[in-house]
Amino acid sequence: VSNAQRRQRVLETHPAEVQALLVTTPANVRYLTGFTGSNGQLLLGEESTFFTDGRYDEQSTKQVPDVAREIYSGTTKFSELLAKSLADRGITRLGVEAAHMTLATSDRLRGELSGIELVPTSALVEKVRERKDADEVATIRAAQRLAEQALLTSLANFKGGTELDLALDIEWAARKEGAEGMSFETIVAGGAHAALPHASPRKEPIDLSGLLLIDMGTKVDGYCSDMTRTFLGPNPPAEMVKVHAAVCEAVEAAFAVIRPGVACKDVDAAARSVLEREGYGDRFIHSTGHGVGLEIHEGPTLAPSAEGVLEVGNIVTVEPGVYLPGIGGVRVEDFCVVTEDGYDNLTALDRGPDFPS
Ligand code: ZN
Ligand code: ZN
Repeated sequence: VSNAQRRQRVLETHPAEVQALLVTTPANVRYLTGFTGSNGQLLLGEESTFFTDGRYDEQSTKQVPDVAREIYSGTTKFSELLAKSLADRGITRLGVEAAHMTLATSDRLRGELSGIELVPTSALVEKVRERKDADEVATIRAAQRLAEQALLTSLANFKGGTELDLALDIEWAARKEGAEGMSFETIVAGGAHAALPHASPRKEPIDLSGLLLIDMGTKVDGYCSDMTRTFLGPNPPAEMVKVHAAVCEAVEAAFAVIRPGVACKDVDAAARSVLEREGYGDRFIHSTGHGVGLEIHEGPTLAPSAEGVLEVGNIVTVEPGVYLPGIGGVRVEDFCVVTEDGYDNLTALDRGPDFPS
């Protein structure tokens, strides 16, 4: 799907009360234009204009060849160029992305764009982004292959060290193998530290005979991957063999219901009911999954309160976890793309609990 087709899809969904949409969320700007720089704005309408500053003049010439461009600098402000574009098109009601625009920016624009009404909009581009095309799926699959290889390589070469050492080894291996970066700060947590769902790696030695939780993702062409594995050595903390089996069963229960049309909250319920039955319902303290794409957390969300249904092209994680404070925690996370007849799991690595050999 071309960037022009993506822009057309958003135009088809944007509400009638706005005449054009000012896209400022970096991932949305990238999705609709291909621009990878840190500062760009898209005025999306029947005619669109891309704005950036002088640093990105040359880069945007190459990356955004099919949209009119306006470059601002020390002497011309973004708001002046925007005001002119709006006036040229007779636009007086401009949609803005409320989730991204700060109150300060909104106040400033209201002052600088006289006669223009700013209308808050919500998730118009994000909703279109939830349905990945074949190229996006292939890119995310490639990112996941790379993440798995980085994890296997760094575990195989690990001669002992701290959680932070192993986290850095994983990130080094991923970059060496071609990742442009990590999707988020790699989580490496041993033993009782794994009872924190978002543990930061510590300068504490890893005990490979116990429990080790690793949550990691790599980025390729701007797209994220996401995977969690919890490995158990010969002497895991109390109960964790049973907990690991229950979590894996919860993963399978969620996958068993994933297909187009199923309510997102029903996927969560499928995983949650297994852990409730095993007596760990109150120790599963987060939602079952989230969408993955240009951002590590995007829609749809698989949670008890989630609205909406799964659609073909959604990429969602399945990541139930059980956390026993002072003892340890187990989370197992795969992710999949929703297909016409169910799903295609993008994660290939064995779920354990044994360390990969
Ligand atoms: Zn994760
Ligand atoms: Zn995740």
